[in-house]
Amino acid sequence: MTSFVSTRGRATEVGFIDALLGGLAADGGLHVPAAWPEMSARWIAALPGRPYADVAADILGCFAGDEIDPAALSDMCWRAYGGFDHPAVAPLRQLDAGAFLLELFHGPSLAFKDIALQLLARLAVHALERRGRRMTIVCATSGDTGGAAVEAFAGLDHVRIVALFPEGRISEVQRRFMTTSPHDNVACLSVAGDFDDCQELLKGMFGDRAFVSDVGLAAVNSINFIRIIAQSVYYFTAAAALGAPERAVSFVVPTGNFGDAFAGWAAHRMGLPLARILAATNRNAIVARALEDGAYVREAAAATMSPAMDIQVASNFERLFFECAGRDGAATAAAFKAFARTGRLTLPHDILTPMRTLFRAASVDEAETAATMDRVRQASGILIDPHTAVAVAAAARADLAAPRVILATAHPAKFPEAVRAATGAAGPVPRPVARRARLAERVTPIAADAGAVKAFVRDFAG
Ligand SMILES: *Cc1c(COP(=O)(O)O)cnc(C)c1O
Repeated sequence: MTSFVSTRGRATEVGFIDALLGGLAADGGLHVPAAWPEMSARWIAALPGRPYADVAADILGCFAGDEIDPAALSDMCWRAYGGFDHPAVAPLRQLDAGAFLLELFHGPSLAFKDIALQLLARLAVHALERRGRRMTIVCATSGDTGGAAVEAFAGLDHVRIVALFPEGRISEVQRRFMTTSPHDNVACLSVAGDFDDCQELLKGMFGDRAFVSDVGLAAVNSINFIRIIAQSVYYFTAAAALGAPERAVSFVVPTGNFGDAFAGWAAHRMGLPLARILAATNRNAIVARALEDGAYVREAAAATMSPAMDIQVASNFERLFFECAGRDGAATAAAFKAFARTGRLTLPHDILTPMRTLFRAASVDEAETAATMDRVRQASGILIDPHTAVAVAAAARADLAAPRVILATAHPAKFPEAVRAATGAAGPVPRPVARRARLAERVTPIAADAGAVKAFVRDFAG
């Protein structure tokens, strides 16, 4: 069994279920495993042809240990991925001679967040039932986490879910995946602010220990480490399909909060040979600047056509910092507390260098994103969404060894306006989108004010 320590080094270790149900570690840091499991080369070589759910159960099992019965875990994995509309769950599709799209949008909300959240919901309900507890999930979303979380948790016993999203900054399709849920354990707050305000509100709630225990506060954002583990699974399946462990594959990851990119690092740390991970950002390029210049500097978030990446504080970057700082919790705490105050952090050479053994980064502007959607459609007939396009554009610029796997994080039908504007085309409207276009929305507008949001959550939690 793995226990979990904090990136800030001062919280007591917790087990799998506490990491699953909790949010930030007690010292304000993020959970990371006390020791990383190692997947053997033989296990990796045997992956092609195995069901995705079984691979997920193997990896999750390394972390859950005896806290979750292996048969129950396997059953949860099968149920989590049984609802996906592709039997491979995360299929590869060839884009050109050396590049493949890894389609991560075959779940119920048509975005890659489903892959982690469908599983997380089942694990959480399992744990809550065992502990006889209830929980209130507050989810700050830049667009897709909210929809995936609502899909995963709506109508479940023991759970309430409040989605906070930045008013006017997400697409209508994204919004409707949250606001049209008929279940009364779901509430949606449209916050007068940007995504970073939403994330700050959430962090503020976790900073109030009394509030956390009163409402049973839990997080499903990628500060939740179990999400990272669930996302590391498709790095293994995709790389193995393309020849790992013999061949080292490169991945290109559309990046916002750095959870998905860190999941790639985690897969590598667990034994998967990788050539390179390229973190691709839109013009909200804090991660790109950090990895290329060592300057992790917060700026104002700009609205783009890839809103799930309109982020200026990439929470998971703290995890990479901790790992590359030789797991020095005191140094990580000092760095990120200073960053919270000043909005800037200069990465020392001895931390940036290990980061760059695996990572490179690039940022892509709006014009190039649109041109890339159009170019891909002309060249291959494939429609890609703006987030995926950011990664395809970054990959085209970078010098990456083949095979290159580009994570396709959302279905193009989630961003029909941007896709049509860029390509003149719109693919068929998938059934889940068409159905939600006809349903009434339930949403409460609210100020970006910690007191107001806490009062709402307290009331809703009952
Ligand atoms: C969340 C999201 C991302 C960014 O992922 P991070 O883990 O936050 O870096 C990219 N694309 C889409 C479509 C997303 O929903």
